Amino acid sequence: MKICKVCHAVCPEKHWYYDEKLYEAYHDAKGVESIECEGCHRIKMKDFHGTVYIAGKVLKEKKDELLRLIKNEEKMDLPTHTLSRIYDIIDEKDRVVVHTLNQRLAFNIGMQLKKTFRGKLHILREGERKMGVMRHSSSKEDVVVNWVQTEVKEKKVPGGKTATIKAAAKKASAMGASKKATTKKK
Ligand SMILES: [Zn+2]
Repeated sequence: MKICKVCHAVCPEKHWYYDEKLYEAYHDAKGVESIECEGCHRIKMKDFHGTVYIAGKVLKEKKDELLRLIKNEEKMDLPTHTLSRIYDIIDEKDRVVVHTLNQRLAFNIGMQLKKTFRGKLHILREGERKMGVMRHSSSKEDVVVNWVQTEVKEKKVPGGKTATIKAAAKKASAMGASKKATTKKK
């Protein structure tokens, strides 16, 4: 069995996970290898494999909620996936950048953003990336997740009345009264 002296992850066989009781029971036991797990190693080497770019109004309006969501994804993933860790969160004012140790967490954050705030989600692999920070340990496994909170179109229509009429016409046409609606317009 291996244990991580830094983060207390345990690896009884092949898979690393967190079980504080197991750690407590075995960390001093004979034959147990006390090492640095891959997650802790990656943090030390600044070796992250996921990047999430976040943009949109949510940064101005619900940043607290956004950060909570990001950290919550890590919290949910981490017990069973010791590489699902946030390396850092960079606040660039009109953009937030999250680096994750593995791909999985970057994916999950992207999916959760889409689920919670809708918006546009675009996931690309390192090979497709044209811009970005070059690292000597660049890996094909890297993933870049782009999420942008898109504007709601209805809000752009000035005046509530116009919007309501348009919505009503749309509804009518959807209900099979499209002919009437078209004639009226002309
Ligand atoms: Zn560790």
